[in-house]
Amino acid sequence: MAAKPTSQRKEPRFAGFDRQFIGGQWRAGSGEGSLADRNPYSGDLLVEIPLANERDVDEAHEAAVKAQRAWVQRLPSERSEVMRRAAQVMETRHDEIVDWLINESGSARIKAELEWAAVRAVMLEAAFAPYRVEGRILPGDVPGKECRVLAQPVGVVGVISPWNWPLQLSNRSVAPALALGNAVVLKPASDTPVTGGLLLAKIFEEAGLPPGVLNVVVGAGGSIGDAFVCHPASRVISFTGSTPVGRNIARLAAEAPIMKRVELELGGNSPFVVLADADLDQAVEAAVFGKFLHQGQICMITNRFIVEQKIYESFVEHFTARTRELKTGDPADPETLIGPIINEKQLEGLQARIEEARSSGARETLGGEAQGQVLPPHVFADVTNEMKLAREEIFGPIAPIISAANEDEAIAIANATTFGLSSAIFSSDAERATRLAARIEAGMVHVNDQPVNDLPNNPFGGEKNSGIGRFGGEWAVKAFTTDKWVTVQHEPRQYPRSADVLRGPWAGG
Ligand code: NAD
Repeated sequence: MAAKPTSQRKEPRFAGFDRQFIGGQWRAGSGEGSLADRNPYSGDLLVEIPLANERDVDEAHEAAVKAQRAWVQRLPSERSEVMRRAAQVMETRHDEIVDWLINESGSARIKAELEWAAVRAVMLEAAFAPYRVEGRILPGDVPGKECRVLAQPVGVVGVISPWNWPLQLSNRSVAPALALGNAVVLKPASDTPVTGGLLLAKIFEEAGLPPGVLNVVVGAGGSIGDAFVCHPASRVISFTGSTPVGRNIARLAAEAPIMKRVELELGGNSPFVVLADADLDQAVEAAVFGKFLHQGQICMITNRFIVEQKIYESFVEHFTARTRELKTGDPADPETLIGPIINEKQLEGLQARIEEARSSGARETLGGEAQGQVLPPHVFADVTNEMKLAREEIFGPIAPIISAANEDEAIAIANATTFGLSSAIFSSDAERATRLAARIEAGMVHVNDQPVNDLPNNPFGGEKNSGIGRFGGEWAVKAFTTDKWVTVQHEPRQYPRSADVLRGPWAGG
């Protein structure tokens, strides 16, 4: 866990969030219409932002290309220093940043504090990124030839982020990409234009990042998304969001006039397996946190509890009882775990899920009506893996519990999904659980913990429809650099004059 903030700022809070951030200028978007950014709990208008259009997207990329040329020449220590100063801004502006997360993204204070700590930790990790880049010299079967591999920044990275952990999921791409010598154009989600983009730009601006190295365009994915993804200036699109949008982005990137790489962090359907020998109390504590943090709106969150038959009823009873105690409501209250659902459309979708679960025969052990945007936790036992509730990503405070006859059936159910992001197994025999972990088709498995984990130096990412690529430490270096093979012929090369020579030492043609 990161250190507590050291000081509180006395100077004015950041202001001017009604702008785009392009080429170091805070200026109005040139698009039609504006985005009303509202607090999902109170409905209060936070800021109205004139939208960006394709021209803004273009200018942001041009600014990035220009700024990157100078930025990449900076010493590793200079880029590293900007990351450390950004972490310092996080500390001095701790209260302001946490307030924004509560007010704009509906984060309960617990979650806002966790997000603040995660962002700061990624900035500090990114301070090492410039020193993690490694070139190589490889052997080669050509006399007199030296083979070098240079790892270079890709140039411009386009980052598209979701609304649920907006500051963290933008910064997780932005900080390492910048530290490695790239420039970035960032498009935050429409529900979180400030915490997903403009606030991050203010933090890096205050940390001394040169103009144009980070640009933020605020516009609807449906209107500027294609222009953003297909822009010829960007070499990598780092996308975090839903699987259907990610799939479309991968297709666009392949069909763009100049193809580009995609890094995709997509949806999940995390299984949480509880074996009969598990410490039930600890499993229930983990289960509650790993289901209801941020009202279940997390890609890694538990989507299905799969519990061995022997302790199934006991788990259902304890989990339901513990969940009943959870505080819901005002996200600013430090005791609240379950705050508002991000918007009305999401809430309506969740209410439809609840109706479906009821009509499909699942046993509702806990429920309740929504108060405004706050949906109380729902628990459904006797769910089968074929029910829609188990098949699809829920993204809300609804907990399906499935019974499994034994460990083999539990793993088979865990893997019977098109997703493969995170997962968890509880057992008092850690070695047994670790053997089973190897059989789970997911990018991440946590033994005797819940699935929501993200540590800045560890590989974060998914399998199957949960994505392509990894964040964190050396994996971020891979994501935002490209390997160039450079050979040097130190002595004149003998080229073949007859096919006979090809059986000799001549090779590598
Ligand atoms: P979303 O896919 O609707 O939107 C994500 C981003 O894509 C937003 O910035 C949005 O404006 C943009 N977008 C939408 N249409 C676009 C288009 N046509 N072209 C370009 N950009 C477009 O996702 P969301 O609702 O913001 O977030 C929830 C989803 O994100 C869930 O499925 C969740 O699992 C996933 N998620 C994944 C991770 C992860 O690390 N794997 C983390 C958080 C969220």
